[in-house]
Amino acid sequence: MTQSTIAKETREFQTETKQLLDLMIHSIYTNREIFLRELISNASDAIDKIRFESLTNQEILEGNNDFEIFLIPDENTKNLTISDNGMGMTYDEVIENIGTIAKSGTKAFLEKLKDSGEGTANELIGQFGVGFYSAFMVAKKVTVITRAPGQTKGVRWESTGDGTYTIEECDKESRGTIIILTLNDEYCSADHSGENFLDRYTLQSLVKKYSDYIRYPIKMNFTKEEKPLDADGKVIEDAPAKQTVEVRTLNSMTPLWTKNKKDISKEEYHQFYKTMFYDWEDPLEIIHSKVEGVVEYTTVLFIPAHAPFDFYQRESTSGIRLYSKNVFVMDNYKDLLPDYLRFVRGLVDSPDFSLNISRELLQHSSQLQKVGKNLEKSLLKTLETMLSKERSKYETFWKEYGKAIKSGIYSDFQNREKLQDLLLFPSSQSTDELTTLADYVARMQDAQQVIYYATGKDRSSVERLPQMELLREKGIEVLYLLDRVDEFAIEALREYKDKKFQSISRGDLKLDEIADSENKQEVENLAKENETLLKAVQERLTGKIADVKISNRLKSSPVCLVSGDNGISISMEQILTEIDKASLKAQRILELNPHHKVFHVLKDLYEQDPSSNAFKDYCDLLYGQALLMEGLIPDDPITFANKIAALMAEENKK
Ligand code: ADP
Repeated sequence: MTQSTIAKETREFQTETKQLLDLMIHSIYTNREIFLRELISNASDAIDKIRFESLTNQEILEGNNDFEIFLIPDENTKNLTISDNGMGMTYDEVIENIGTIAKSGTKAFLEKLKDSGEGTANELIGQFGVGFYSAFMVAKKVTVITRAPGQTKGVRWESTGDGTYTIEECDKESRGTIIILTLNDEYCSADHSGENFLDRYTLQSLVKKYSDYIRYPIKMNFTKEEKPLDADGKVIEDAPAKQTVEVRTLNSMTPLWTKNKKDISKEEYHQFYKTMFYDWEDPLEIIHSKVEGVVEYTTVLFIPAHAPFDFYQRESTSGIRLYSKNVFVMDNYKDLLPDYLRFVRGLVDSPDFSLNISRELLQHSSQLQKVGKNLEKSLLKTLETMLSKERSKYETFWKEYGKAIKSGIYSDFQNREKLQDLLLFPSSQSTDELTTLADYVARMQDAQQVIYYATGKDRSSVERLPQMELLREKGIEVLYLLDRVDEFAIEALREYKDKKFQSISRGDLKLDEIADSENKQEVENLAKENETLLKAVQERLTGKIADVKISNRLKSSPVCLVSGDNGISISMEQILTEIDKASLKAQRILELNPHHKVFHVLKDLYEQDPSSNAFKDYCDLLYGQALLMEGLIPDDPITFANKIAALMAEENKK
């Protein structure tokens, strides 16, 4: 910090901040009162920070360790002030934290908001946590005066939310932050009860509602007017009233998790969750437990109703909060739960956690690992119970987090057994219901040996796959794997209750026991009969396919492409190619439907002249069609199209 004072300067907000401010000011936020919760949470976080720092550096406190948050409503100036003696901010931090929006998600937020309309704004704002700016929902001017410990000067920041702000150095004696909101007239007029944010009782009830659990006292002065008493203790009616000021603490400060479960209402849990984890919606599930024994801890975990917007795109920032005997230790601790449960929010309080410990050391703490294992177990138990007792709630859960659970199956070997019963898939059994693997197995036909699945981008494209034809005819249920991650999970599982998974587009369908054995015999005979034809087709398609076979899975389509029993499947090849250009290739097998008219034409052409261009073109076209049905583009689309055109012209001549 230089000694010379930095002069006042006017700066522009980042474009995205501007948009956000605009949104706040003209907002769709129906629930404007939450600005108070947001600012109090920021103050509390700032106190948490300094308190934590002071564990290893006592001097940082500058002798000021009566942590508190003060609310000061002022009728004359129409200002509501929120002050704290937390960590404060340096000049650069003010610019960084308040002048810009560091969060990369803000832009996405604004875009998403544009797309999804006003109705979802509340929910979205919750997800994106744009706390400080909510002040502009009720204030026409916001002033921040702050000083970080060890700094000789404070910083004064001011904005009317018009796209610019001013910043300058100033004097500030005590450490911490003061936020002054010059309220809009409509939010401080005495005749609008409930919307008057200068009214002490309104403020008191808002603190109770949203910030009761905050661990530092939230105080406010209440002025009492009393007439003096006479010697007998009677009020002297004609004496002028005397004003006394009483400081009241508005919040109870009891951390929710220390209370008895039965004394906590659902509403309290919900408020707690929303305040602590900046969510707008009530959580989908709450798990509160206290464990005593080798490891001792209390935990409150929540499954948010919605996954954050970027949950599946980048490493999400959530994690678990750690406390030790009610004292905050660390936020967003990610290594407690396995990655597939990273959507879980919550906290763990354990006397075994050491207060000043680094994240690196924590990772090796065996106590913490035990706690993590226990939490994982109880979360899985909760999900299991939800699936069996509250199916529709579970399906809501599945819609949000199903992919995460599936990723647990292929990324973490130990979890497979536990997670397989939590899987849900669409299937050919029902157009709107999802099925568990257990239910699928229970419905399997007597002679059915394997669990059939088909992959595709949506239900209708799977249902139209030529490979589905025979299975449909036989009434065999097929699971639909419509998520990219599904096949990885299924391949990782390999089998469920001794039943192997079988792709309908792969190798032998193992239908012998179900499909009549005559069929099998017939296919074998036809294969023998047409051996040289099949060989000639294969030769024509050398380098493209590994084999040509007579199909027993086709009914009305002329061809299909399947992959061999070993190696990766064609659909997986597609996914891998997208991720990594030089990836593995599936073994492709072209299957021909011996009962289709085209097969007979092919056969005739072959018998007339196996080296004719017509025969070669038929081979190429059949292969091209098989690729198209798999959603793949023929190797040379122009030649493919030209050959079809030629054939169409030919047809017309006849
Ligand atoms: P969030 O709290 O979600 O990070 P905010 O917009 O509410 O987002 O706040 C932005 C940042 O400004 C905070 O992360 C914090 O660094 C800083 N900040 C806000 N209020 C205070 C305060 N009272 N004391 C110290 N820093 C604060």
